Amino acid sequence: MKAAILNTRSSTSKDHLRIAEVPRPEPKLGYVLLHVLACGVCRTDLHIAEGDLPVLCQDLIPGHQIVGEVVEGASEALPVGSRVGVSWMGGTDGDCFYCKHGMENLCDHPTFTGYSVNGGYAEYVLVREDFTHPLPQELDATHVAPLLCAGIIGFRSLRVAGVQHGERVGLFGFGSSATLAIPVLQSWGCEVYVVTRGAAHRATAAKLGATWVGKEDAKPPAALDRAVTFAPSGKVVVDALSSLRKGGVVAINAIHLDQMPAFDYDTLLWGERQIRSVANMTRADATDFLKIAHDLNIQPRVSVFSLDDANKALLAVKNETEDGSAVIVP
Ligand SMILES: [Zn+2]
Ligand SMILES: [Zn+2]
Repeated sequence: MKAAILNTRSSTSKDHLRIAEVPRPEPKLGYVLLHVLACGVCRTDLHIAEGDLPVLCQDLIPGHQIVGEVVEGASEALPVGSRVGVSWMGGTDGDCFYCKHGMENLCDHPTFTGYSVNGGYAEYVLVREDFTHPLPQELDATHVAPLLCAGIIGFRSLRVAGVQHGERVGLFGFGSSATLAIPVLQSWGCEVYVVTRGAAHRATAAKLGATWVGKEDAKPPAALDRAVTFAPSGKVVVDALSSLRKGGVVAINAIHLDQMPAFDYDTLLWGERQIRSVANMTRADATDFLKIAHDLNIQPRVSVFSLDDANKALLAVKNETEDGSAVIVP
């Protein structure tokens, strides 16, 4: 099968991936072999490619926003041809402290799709059956792919921030996750305040009906109940913190940050403000978000790339040149 394979620690951003023919994975018990219909490109893929995250496996095929059809390993629950989604959380050990206490996102021995095992930048991928998410057959695969990480983990960020219906919520840094969080917040009657440096992103946020939109150095005109940061920047976290009311929460939706700058505890954190990170996702997050996305008919804007153009897709995410989410169609 054709696949895009990571060149370990490539120093230039143009050739992180090489396209090659590799053997199709062999089916095994508890797994299903999927024919990949579409695979979204996530900023985490870029962090892996650029060496911001440690190498866990050689000759890795990245990609963790996979829409595929079951071709082997079918069961009564998942017959041949079933359409499923696969996300970042590709498996857990099921018996660590976290798995036993409803926190499988923090599992001590997790499997990360497209990071600790091969992912979806390929024609086929082998995945754990119990970490697949059923998808309606009629949905277009390219429009579902970005929901599977950007959407689910963005939704988890709202949960970690403790968003309540009708609250004022700030989104700091703007990308695929933020665009998918806006309709969810609107359905909860929340006011959405967007702070982002990109003029195109500000225009998109305004078009999506954000209550207020500002540049990166602007401060929302009202104190926020909650904030979610999407940029891999510690400074943005401090900006978000300085926009909160007492008792407010900042959730950091980033697997990697440049660094946290020093900040003044007395004025910014005291008053029971909280900073929380968002790590991975649970299967319940996926089920709940995919249902909401279906009910609200959330259709992300996408830019489609062929597998041969996988490097261009990564570059588009790095440079934020596309308005929509980058999706690879093998
Ligand atoms: Zn576990
Ligand atoms: Zn992701």
